[in-house]
Amino acid sequence: MNKKKGLLIVVSAPSGCGKGTILEAAMKRKEFCYSVSATTRSPRPGETDGVNYFFLDRERFEEMARNGEMLEYAEFVGNLYGTPRAPVEEKLAEGRDVILEIEVQGAMKVKKACPDAVLIFILPPSVDVLRQRLCKRKTESEEVIEERVAQAGREIGEAVNYDYAIVNDDLEKAVEDFLGVIQAEKLTVKRQKDTIDNIINEKQ
Ligand code: 5GP
Repeated sequence: MNKKKGLLIVVSAPSGCGKGTILEAAMKRKEFCYSVSATTRSPRPGETDGVNYFFLDRERFEEMARNGEMLEYAEFVGNLYGTPRAPVEEKLAEGRDVILEIEVQGAMKVKKACPDAVLIFILPPSVDVLRQRLCKRKTESEEVIEERVAQAGREIGEAVNYDYAIVNDDLEKAVEDFLGVIQAEKLTVKRQKDTIDNIINEKQ
């Protein structure tokens, strides 16, 4: 019998929505493979090459893209970001569920290339709450915060193209919702065709 392929899970959210925190908490409760992206942006303090990202120069990134080594890629605020294809395909073939934490343009490319993927959008409870969360970080100027809020508005407009939207008001609830979506997706009939066929064809 063929091994059941893993689930490809795409998660997007504007900056400040708590996407990273939700995924970290979800990964403590269930086993997921996290796809490490490639980017041309410089590492931030505390980021490690090969762990947070593969930090590449533009030439190497573009070469990988040209060679079809990226499952998807997109330019986001002046830098390229992309998902290396091979590790994702290998893990899915092993039956493991893979999470891609990517922005909306890339997510739409995955939706087209992999119609089986599940697309989840994380929303802030409101734009005001998002602004407050960004202000609390105290890492950006007021001008940058307003630019992030405007960018968030544009990204949230794309949420209608996703399969699920989870509001991150309460972290515990958002994690429950995330795990619930994954569980429900695995039970859809289209993902259980082999199981159904095996039962039908079972020798009586
Ligand atoms: P940051 O620079 O803050 O780490 O990420 C900026 C944005 O790029 C985030 O929305 C993040 O989800 C997105 N991103 C990270 N990796 C990828 C990727 O491989 N492909 C795409 N399309 N977006 C990515």
